[in-house]
Amino acid sequence: MKILKVCHACDRIIGELELDNLTSDNVDTGMDIVGNVAFILCPGCLHEMEIKTGNVYH
Ligand SMILES: [Zn+2]
Repeated sequence: MKILKVCHACDRIIGELELDNLTSDNVDTGMDIVGNVAFILCPGCLHEMEIKTGNVYH
């Protein structure tokens, strides 16, 4: 089974993931899998989010 990895925030296709059988054991906990698409954050968006959450509201 082929899973497509797509960024949550910018909808960019990050890559493909080959899974023989989809169980909670072989899936990263940060992944949100819908059908055969896994929504995760690409490194760029992850970095941006880290900057935002590190900021204090003024
Ligand atoms: Zn992204």
